[in-house]
Amino acid sequence: MRLEESTKPAAGAPARGPIRVTEGSEVLLRLYGLGLGPRTSERVAFAELRPAANASAPNGTCPERSQDLLVRPGPAEARSTSALLRVHVQPLRKDEQAKTYVLCTQGRPGQPWLPHQGLDGRIVVLEEKKSLLPLWLQVILIAGLLVLSGMFSGLNLGLMALDPMELRIVQNCGTDKEKRYARKIEPIRRKGNYLLCSLLLGNVLVNTTLTILLDDLIGSGIGAVVASTIGIVIFGEIMPQALCSRHGLAVGANTIVVTKFFMLVTFPLSFPISKLLDCILGQEIGTVYNREKLVEMLKVTEPYNDLVREELNMIQGALELRIKTVEDVMTPLHNCFMINSDAILDFNTMSEIMESGFTRIPVYEDERSNIMDILYVKDLAFVDPDDCTPLKTITKFYNHPVHVVFHDTKLDAMLEEFKKGKSHLAIVQKVNNEGEGDPFYEVLGLVTLEDVIEEIIKSEILDESDMYTDNRNRKRVGNQKNKRDFSAFKDPVNELKVKISPQLLLAAHRFLSTEVTLFTPNFISEKILLRLLKYSDVIQELKFDEENKKSPRHFLYTKNKAADYFILILQGKVEVEAGKESMKFEAGAFSYYGVMALSPPPASALPAQPRRQSTKRGSLFSRLTEIRSPSHVSGLNRSASLSCHERSDSTSSPVSGSNNQLNVGAGPQYVADFSVRALTDLQFVKITRQEYQNGLMASRMDSCPQSPDSNASKVETSLPEKPEPASTDETTSLLNERNCLSRRSNHSSLENSI
Ligand code: ATP
Ligand code: MG
Repeated sequence: MRLEESTKPAAGAPARGPIRVTEGSEVLLRLYGLGLGPRTSERVAFAELRPAANASAPNGTCPERSQDLLVRPGPAEARSTSALLRVHVQPLRKDEQAKTYVLCTQGRPGQPWLPHQGLDGRIVVLEEKKSLLPLWLQVILIAGLLVLSGMFSGLNLGLMALDPMELRIVQNCGTDKEKRYARKIEPIRRKGNYLLCSLLLGNVLVNTTLTILLDDLIGSGIGAVVASTIGIVIFGEIMPQALCSRHGLAVGANTIVVTKFFMLVTFPLSFPISKLLDCILGQEIGTVYNREKLVEMLKVTEPYNDLVREELNMIQGALELRIKTVEDVMTPLHNCFMINSDAILDFNTMSEIMESGFTRIPVYEDERSNIMDILYVKDLAFVDPDDCTPLKTITKFYNHPVHVVFHDTKLDAMLEEFKKGKSHLAIVQKVNNEGEGDPFYEVLGLVTLEDVIEEIIKSEILDESDMYTDNRNRKRVGNQKNKRDFSAFKDPVNELKVKISPQLLLAAHRFLSTEVTLFTPNFISEKILLRLLKYSDVIQELKFDEENKKSPRHFLYTKNKAADYFILILQGKVEVEAGKESMKFEAGAFSYYGVMALSPPPASALPAQPRRQSTKRGSLFSRLTEIRSPSHVSGLNRSASLSCHERSDSTSSPVSGSNNQLNVGAGPQYVADFSVRALTDLQFVKITRQEYQNGLMASRMDSCPQSPDSNASKVETSLPEKPEPASTDETTSLLNERNCLSRRSNHSSLENSI
C-alpha cells in the first residue's frame, strides 16, 4: 500500500513504516496485489489497531472494522495488480492525538476479513495541527507587527539620532513645524536610555512575535524564517530607517502616543535597564561642537546652508582668531618702513614718509631692530620741512609709547589689546635664546589692527594709501594710485644741490651765526640764515682734479681779482696765499674768506691791503676777513634801524628801503688780496653779496613791527621770517621760529582777508 495523494499531508512523514495521514483529510492510496479490480474498494476496510487486539488477533481475523476511514473507489486502473482507493479520514475524537489502523481485506463476499500482516499495511491517523488564530486575524496581526517593527526601528534611528542639543536648537530656531515637533519629542528624548530600551525591547518583541506568527501561518519553520527575515528587513528596517533618518522629527512627533504607550508597557524591564545604563554611561549631553568642528561643519555644510561666502569667511576667521598668532599675520621686519631717530624732518624725509603711505612709523636707533619710538604722520602736521626739525624733537615732544607684543600672542588677545586704546600698531618681538649668550628680545616685525581685521574677514583691506594688498608676500596693489610725486611741493630754490648731512648744515648755521659777525642775529636772523644756506647753490662742491692741480677751477679766490662772495669751507683743505710775500698756508674746515665782499668796504679801505701775515690761523682770518670797521658795522646797523624807523613812522614803503639798501650793497667791487686754492675735494658755503643783502633786508623787514600796510603784508608773505634772539640751543630756536611762523601766518591770512 502506498500513499499517492493527501489533501493535508502530514508533517514529517517517514519514507518507511506505516503511512501517516492527517485527520479530516482525503487521501489516495494505491494497493498492490493480485486480482484487484474496480470493486476492490468493497473488499477493503480498515480496523482500529488496539495494542491488545494487535498482539493477539483472534483467528487471524480482522477486529471490528472502523468507520473512521471510509474507503471509496479511486480512478480505474488498467492492471489487476494495483488499484487506487480514495480514503476519507474522519477527525479523531477529542483527546486523541494519533490512532493506528490496519488494512483488512475480504477474499470474496461473505469470507472473513483478514488483516494485513506487516507494517506497510497500517495507517497512522494524526491529529491535524490547528492555528491558534483564524487566518484573517493572523494576517492582520502580521501586518500590524510589521508596522510596529518598522516604527520601532525607525524611531530608534530617528529619535536617538536627534541629540538633545539639536532638539533644543530646533526648538529655538527651526521652522514653526519643527519647533512644534521638537517640543513634543524633547521630554521623552531627554530620557534617552529609557527611550532606547523601550524601543529596542518593543522591536525585538514584535520581531519574534512576527516570526512565530509567520511560522504558524506558513506551517514550515524554514518558510517562516525566510518570510520573517525578508519581511522584517524590508518593512521593519530598511524602509522605516530610510524614512526616519530624514524625517525623524516628524515621525517621532506623530507617533509619540504609541511610543509612550510602549514605554509604559515595557516599563518594568526597560526602566531598570535604562537606570543602570545612566549610572554606567553617565548623562547624555549630545553633540557639542568645539571650534575646529564648528568651522569644519560650516565648511562641509556650505552647499546646503544659506550663508554667503563672506559670512562664512567671517565666521571662520573669527573662530580661527584663537588659533593664529600675531607672527602669522605681521609684516616682517625687513618689509617695515621705519626711520632712523637721527633723521631730520626735511623735505626729503617728509616726502619719503608721505610716499610710504603709512600712518604709523617705527623710529629706530642705530639698527632697525632697536625700535625706540613711533612717529604718527599726524605728528607732522605742524612740522615745516624747511625747518629741518630733527625727528627726535618731535618724538620727544609727542612721546608715544611703543606698543610691544610677543610673537605668540593669539589674535583674539591682540584684538582686545588694540581695542583698549593703545596704539593700533604693535611691535612683535620674541625672546631669542638660541645659540650662546644671554637670551635677548628679538624684534620680528609689526602688526596693526588692520592685519587682525583682515584675518577676521579673511580678505585684504585696501585703504586709500595702501600699496600692498598682502603685507607678508608684498603683493602690490593693481593700479599704483598711491604713487604720488611730492616733488611738486618742493621749493626749487631751496633745494640743496649738494647733499650734506643735516648735522653739518646746522653746524655751519651755528658757526656763521655765532662766529661771523655779519651773520650774527643782529644782522641776519637765524631763520633767514638757514634759508640762505639752503638756497640751491649756496652749498657747493668742488671735485679736486689730481691731474691738473693748478687748474683755475681749484681757485676759490684769486689774488687781485674781484670777488663778490663769501666762502666758508665745510669739508676739505685749501691753500691760502696772502700778502706781498705770498705766504702760503693750509686751512681746513670752518675757515672762512671774503667777509668784506659781502658789504662795501669803506672807500679808504679799497683796495684792501693785507697787513703782515701771521702764522696763526685765527689772526690771519681776522685780517683776511677784516670787516670790523666800527664805522661800517654801525653804519649798516644805522641804516637798518633807520629803515625800520622810517617804515613804522612814515609812509615810506619797506620796498623802497630795501632798494636803498640794495643800492648800497651794489657798491664798489671788492678785490681779493689773497688766493684760496683747493687741495682736496671741497664742500663749502658760498654766499654772494646779493644773496647776503637780500637776507639782510628780509631779516630787517621781519624784525620790524607789523603794520596794516598792504605792501608790508605782501612782503611778509613772500618773506615770512622774523629774527629771533640768538639762542644757544639750535633746536629750541628752530622750534621757536616755527611757533613764530604759525603765529605770523595766522596774522598774514587775517591781514589778507581784511
Ligand atoms: P591707517 O590705515 O590707520 O591710516 P596704515 O594704512 O598706515 O594706517 P594699517 O592700515 O594699519 O596702516 O596697515 C596696513 C598694512 O600695512 C598692514 O598690513 C600693516 O602691517 C602694514 N603696515 C603698517 N605700518 C607699516 C610700516 N610702518 N611699515 C610696513 N608696513 C606697515
Ligand atoms: Mg590702512
